[in-house]
Amino acid sequence: MSVLIYIEHAGGTFKKTTAEVLSYGAVLAEKMGTEAIGLLLGDTQEDISQLGKYGVKKIYQVKDAGLQQADNQSVTKVIADAIAQLKAEVVVFSNTITTKAIAPRLSAKLKAGLVAGAIAIPDVSNGFTVKKNVFSGKAFADVTINTDIKIITLNANAFTTIVGIGEAEIIPLTVTITASKIKVTGVQKIEDDISLADADIVVSGGRGLKGPENWALVEDLAKLLGAATACSRPVADAHWRPHHEHVGQTGVAIAPNLYIAIGISGAIQHLAGVNRSKVIVVINKDPEAPFFKAADYGIVGDAFEVMPKIIEAVRKLKN
Ligand SMILES: Cc1cc2nc3c(=O)[nH]c(=O)nc-3n(C[C@H](O)[C@H](O)[C@H](O)COP(=O)(O)OP(=O)(O)OC[C@H]3O[C@@H](n4cnc5c(N)ncnc54)[C@H](O)[C@@H]3O)c2cc1C
Repeated sequence: MSVLIYIEHAGGTFKKTTAEVLSYGAVLAEKMGTEAIGLLLGDTQEDISQLGKYGVKKIYQVKDAGLQQADNQSVTKVIADAIAQLKAEVVVFSNTITTKAIAPRLSAKLKAGLVAGAIAIPDVSNGFTVKKNVFSGKAFADVTINTDIKIITLNANAFTTIVGIGEAEIIPLTVTITASKIKVTGVQKIEDDISLADADIVVSGGRGLKGPENWALVEDLAKLLGAATACSRPVADAHWRPHHEHVGQTGVAIAPNLYIAIGISGAIQHLAGVNRSKVIVVINKDPEAPFFKAADYGIVGDAFEVMPKIIEAVRKLKN
C-alpha cells in the first residue's frame, strides 16, 4: 500500500504546485504509516531526483514515446495501470485544468471515491475524511471516502511546501498504452512569460479601466512585480483582453499569494475565481464596491491617478 503522487509537468518543467502536492502526499503517507511514491509520465529537462527533498523516496517514471500524443483518456488508463502495479491506496493530484479531466475519469474507471479541491491533510483517525471548499470558497465540507482506492486533488496554495533533504530514486515503469479513439491533431500554447494558473502575483483589471488602451497600467505594474495579468469577464467579452486572462466562476480559478484588482467591482462570480488568493488588494473609486469586503488592503481612488503613483513607487523600490 502506498500514497501515489502524480507529478505534473508542463512540457518538461515542474509546476509550482508540484512541490506542494509532493509535500502533501509525503505528510499524508507518514500519517497513514505507509510510503509516498511519485509517478511521472514522460521526460523532463529538470533534475527529477531533487524532488526527493519534498519527502518522496521513489519516483516511478514512464518514458514511453506514445505518451507524447496521449489524450486524457489514455493518460487515465496509464495512471490506472500504474496504480494497480504499485498497489496505491491513495492517489493525489494537484487540482489543475489537466487533472480536472483526469481525476474524475480515474474515479469512474476504478470506482474510487474522489475529493476534488482538498485544502487540508485528511483525517485518518477514524476512516478517511477530507476537507474541501464548497460554494465557491464560502463554506467547507468534510467528505469521507469509503472506497478501497481514494483520489484527492489538492488546491493550489492550500498546503505549505515542506523542504527537507534527500534525493528520490528514479525507477522506470512499463505500462500498457492503449491506442485512443481520440486523435490530438494540434496543440496551441499561450506563450505568456508567467502562466496565470501558477503565478505568485496577479495584477488584474476590470471595466473601470475604460478600454484596452489603458492596459499599460496593469502591464507595467505586472512587469515590475514579476506578475501575471488577468481581467474580469466583461473585459474579455469586449475583447479588451484575451479570454485566457478572464478569472472567475466561468474563467480561470486562481490562488496566488497576491491578487491586485484594479477597477473591478467584486461581483460574486468574479470572487469565485479569486477568493482563495492569500492577500487581496483592491483599487476602486467607489468606496461601496463589494470587492472591498473581500480585500485585505484597499485604496479608494481613481485608478488613473493611483496606478501611476504605485508604479512609480515600486520602480523606485526596485532601483
Ligand atoms: C453566470 C455568470 C457568470 C459570470 N462569470 C464571471 C466570471 O467568471 N468572472 C467575472 O469577472 N465576471 C463574471 N460574471 C460577470 C459578473 O457578474 C460581473 O458583471 C463582472 O465581474 C463585472 O466586471 P467588472 O467588475 O470589471 O465591471 P463593473 O461591474 O462594471 O465594475 C467596474 C468597477 O470599476 C470601478 N471603477 C470605475 N472607474 C474607475 C476608476 N477610474 N478607477 C477605479 N475604479 C473604477 C467601479 O466603481 C466598479 O466597481 C458572470 C456573470 C454571470 C451572470
